[in-house]
Amino acid sequence: MVTVLFPHLAAVEIEQVDRQDGQIRVVARTRGDPVCCPSCGTATGKVHGYHRRRLADRPVDGLPVVIELRLRRLVCVNLDCVRQTFHEQVPGLAGRYGRRTPGATALVIACALALAERAGASLLATIGLLLSRTSVLSTLMALPEPPSTVPAVIGVDDFAIKRGQRYATVIIDAVTHRCLEVLPDRLGVTFAHWLQAHPGVRLICRDRSAAYAAGARDGAPQAVQCADRWHLLNNLSEAVEKLALAHRGCFRDIATGQGRDEGPTVRRTRSRYAAIHALLGQGVTNNEIARRLHLALNTVKKYARAPHVEQLIGGSKRGATLVDPFRDYLRSRRAAEPPNPA
Ligand SMILES: [Zn+2]
Repeated sequence: MVTVLFPHLAAVEIEQVDRQDGQIRVVARTRGDPVCCPSCGTATGKVHGYHRRRLADRPVDGLPVVIELRLRRLVCVNLDCVRQTFHEQVPGLAGRYGRRTPGATALVIACALALAERAGASLLATIGLLLSRTSVLSTLMALPEPPSTVPAVIGVDDFAIKRGQRYATVIIDAVTHRCLEVLPDRLGVTFAHWLQAHPGVRLICRDRSAAYAAGARDGAPQAVQCADRWHLLNNLSEAVEKLALAHRGCFRDIATGQGRDEGPTVRRTRSRYAAIHALLGQGVTNNEIARRLHLALNTVKKYARAPHVEQLIGGSKRGATLVDPFRDYLRSRRAAEPPNPA
């Protein structure tokens, strides 16, 4: 059973297993087999002394497992060897200095990588590996850096360290989504320096930021720049929203079954737009149009600026009101009545 469930204990002799104080204790010792000296390789079984080590192992049944292992200090029998004695190691169970078995360390690393210190320590405690969040963090920090090769496709974007005040830049491998670098600001020149120090980038996915565009141009002129998927979708949704807003009158008409029967305000906007643009086409000035059509100069300018009439109809922030159908009538009454004596 031991070799199937606990293969890392197969190399030692288990003397006792008990369950006390909410943990499982395994008392074990190494067998008396000869061990090779780490300096000269001579096999020796001559014991100089013993020492005990306590190792945290992978939990069992939600309980912490502690292995109390007796190890030998052996004498090198080669008289020419620089080493007189040495501690024996048990590969796969007790490395040098470690206080956990490799299996337990693998669990800690997996949790630390996925959840970092506090959440990692909390999950590990749940499954029976008790260690502080600082121990989880130091395990994480002790991991060797993964070999870094500059990927051909990278993504770059900014993020807020303090919203509205301090921003940094994150560069990711666009294929593996692994973070490659965090730059201390979001300046184009900082990004350009990073690209110069990491040649080989062929494609840069970025947002619409002019700073990153300039940085990419300066740092990696050979690289193609493109909008990333999020910003493409964001741009598309903004454009669709703008268009839908400009034509919301059409949607309202369809919904109410009115078809082309537009309100009087919209009809007036259309005829006014046509009149103003007809005069503009004849080369009449804005001032002259305002005078001829009895309109304010700013109104004429607004109509002159609009590339199409839908923008003026949909662009209004004000929704339809109950007064709209009577607005022309009210205007005609106001024009017909003599001004109130002050
Ligand atoms: Zn030796």
